[in-house]
Amino acid sequence: MTTTVSAESQPFQAEVAELLHLMVHSVYSETDIFLRELISNASDACDKLRYEAIARPELITDGAPPEIRIVPDKKADTLSVVDTGIGMDRQELIDNLGTIARSGTKSFLSKLTEAKDGANLIGQFGVGFYAAFMVADRIVVTSRRAGSDDVWVWSSEGGSGFEIAPASEEAAKRVARGTEIMLHLKKDAAKYLEAYEIERIVREYSDNIQFPILLVPEEG
Ligand code: ADP
Ligand code: MG
Repeated sequence: MTTTVSAESQPFQAEVAELLHLMVHSVYSETDIFLRELISNASDACDKLRYEAIARPELITDGAPPEIRIVPDKKADTLSVVDTGIGMDRQELIDNLGTIARSGTKSFLSKLTEAKDGANLIGQFGVGFYAAFMVADRIVVTSRRAGSDDVWVWSSEGGSGFEIAPASEEAAKRVARGTEIMLHLKKDAAKYLEAYEIERIVREYSDNIQFPILLVPEEG
């Protein structure tokens, strides 16, 4: 029997590894902000879809309207933030989730080398996607660029690198367009599976989002 193992490991850019080390070992108490960061990225992705659809309307008309879903799963201890936005292809996953381009995060890191109290800086700067590693010990991102037949999976435990692989048939079916960010929550982050907790955080931090944010109830 032959099995095809097409997962590929790639190292993080040194700055990302540095940032992740801080996230994983963070004693910063305001971990709630991870959800704001993921919802803000989902909203940006919906905006980008709307923009690209001006020239290519079929990108939107061929699927679900742009929206954001939050999916807790207590059995699996996962929390997913799913959007039907622009999505990412393989190279975009590697570039966007493996390097740091944003100037805010760069200045965060340069401040970090001066400051003793890295934890406090997290709150002042907002560190984007990587903030999710404060509450998750493994993150699996499944994404389909709008209009593409290909679906890719980026996954990482927040160490020195990430893996990139084609999605399984099942995962590809689930993500018709856009991105699913699945957080495997740390033991001490189980509160983020509670609907009232999610609702509270969304109300507090994501009030300004222009797209529908749906909390998908758990079955049973
Ligand atoms: P920022 O949002 O400031 O650019 P982030 O760390 O939050 O920084 O995200 C890094 C990049 O990853 C984004 O710029 C975007 O290109 C990509 N990205 C993250 N989440 C998504 C998503 N849900 N859909 C599409 N692209 C995303
Ligand atoms: Mg962001």
